[in-house]
Amino acid sequence: MAIATINPTTGQVEKTFEAHDEAEVDRRIAEAQAAFETLKDTTFAQRAEWMNKAAQLLEDDADELGRLITIEMGRPIAAARAEVLKCAKGLRFYAENAEEFLAPEQLSDPSRVNASAAGTRYAPIGIVLAVMPWNYPLWQVLRFAGPALMAGNVGLLKHASNVPQAALYLDTLFDRAGFPAGAFRTLLIPASRVESVLRDPRIKATTLTGSEPAGRSLASIAGSEVKHVVLELGGSDPFVVMPSADLEKATTVGVTARNQNNGQSCIAAKRFIVHADVYDEFVRLFTEKVAALTVGDPLDESTDVGPVATESGRDELESQVADAVAKGATVRTGGTVPDRDGWFFEPTVLDGITPEMRLYLEEAFGPVASVYRVESREEAAAVANGTTFGLSSSVWTTDEDEQEWFINRLDAGAVFVNGMTASFPELPFGGVKDSGVGRELAAAGIREFCNLKTVWKG
Ligand code: NAP
Repeated sequence: MAIATINPTTGQVEKTFEAHDEAEVDRRIAEAQAAFETLKDTTFAQRAEWMNKAAQLLEDDADELGRLITIEMGRPIAAARAEVLKCAKGLRFYAENAEEFLAPEQLSDPSRVNASAAGTRYAPIGIVLAVMPWNYPLWQVLRFAGPALMAGNVGLLKHASNVPQAALYLDTLFDRAGFPAGAFRTLLIPASRVESVLRDPRIKATTLTGSEPAGRSLASIAGSEVKHVVLELGGSDPFVVMPSADLEKATTVGVTARNQNNGQSCIAAKRFIVHADVYDEFVRLFTEKVAALTVGDPLDESTDVGPVATESGRDELESQVADAVAKGATVRTGGTVPDRDGWFFEPTVLDGITPEMRLYLEEAFGPVASVYRVESREEAAAVANGTTFGLSSSVWTTDEDEQEWFINRLDAGAVFVNGMTASFPELPFGGVKDSGVGRELAAAGIREFCNLKTVWKG
């Protein structure tokens, strides 16, 4: 894919960029290594001061950056600005909490290990290569960069090829905030050149947020180099609705959970699994609310759903829906590509999905909801767990026993009860099964890229 900003609302190329050549990539790796030698010996207080400054810069730039996100990948403008502010909050969170998360621990009784003192410390490891997607072009990157830099590591970013301007903003953000030059840098390179960077001995670990095939490829290279890897991959999250649920609230939240970011969120609710007792009413309310969404120019403040970010993404969605309809699914609303410029797809509700349809197992990365009728909680859990993904899940029931039952049985990295899945700096984030390995955010996120060093004194 060419490195270019192509506005998904118009389909027009706005700006193209030359990839960095080998010499420039090498220079940036060397600069990152030099930055690490300085950063690793700074105090938490010093890093926190720089991190808070980076947060301030984001807040100052929020309007301009929000507009940039909307033009590069089509996120509605209000949500794009909110993404920038969420990033600032995430950076401040790590500025405040990193030292406590990485505090040394001492055994209370070192004589048990024949020592006078023994315990652990978290040490930084060096350059981490971050391969990131376009769907939240700042948040995905900064939820990695904030904890990485606070731990004393440095980062190199290979961003998605369709968000180069976001990537170039991030290239200078941490320099502007005062971090040693090169502590966080962008490499403008295509995916095909990730392997040679990852095999460079100066790169100590890697993380990828994106699709499952990309994650598998990166992890196999990291495996052959014995380098630590964190993967945040796709999801097809279940949204389970049981008879005691508040249907008005569940349908309103469900519409947002599916259509946020034009349907392109890894943790979007994608499969609505509804008990037969409330199925008809759920489908009626849900369909009505999806059909009422305003589709349009994402720069318009009143737009709920903008275009899909890439033409290939839109075509994939169209082919998944066509496959389901050809095999007998019912279109409750939407289902088509509207007659307009850009890569729009109508917000869609489908039911009657059966296992032979692609949508039963595949992730729908756009505004397409699949609804399933189930007769019992056992069947609900079986359908929910019936894909290879396991990112997050949402369960709607006011029965506390039933809540516990689902929390224990859903194979997912998170269970949200009577609410939609969201990410918070305070809570760990990540999946099981083919949705990934490792965790981001909270204490777990900052510890991923540290050397947990055991210290024993005789
Ligand atoms: P993608 O194609 O995997 O792209 C993501 C990043 O990986 C891009 O920078 C891409 O570069 C790079 N890449 C692609 N193939 C690669 C390879 N073989 N080796 C190394 N790097 C490679 O992902 P996408 O389809 O654009 O993004 C959507 C997917 O990401 C969905 O499945 C979504 O659920 C998932 N996602 C997961 C999370 C999470 O936290 N779990 C969050 C957001 C998105 P190029 O752009 O140059 O190809």
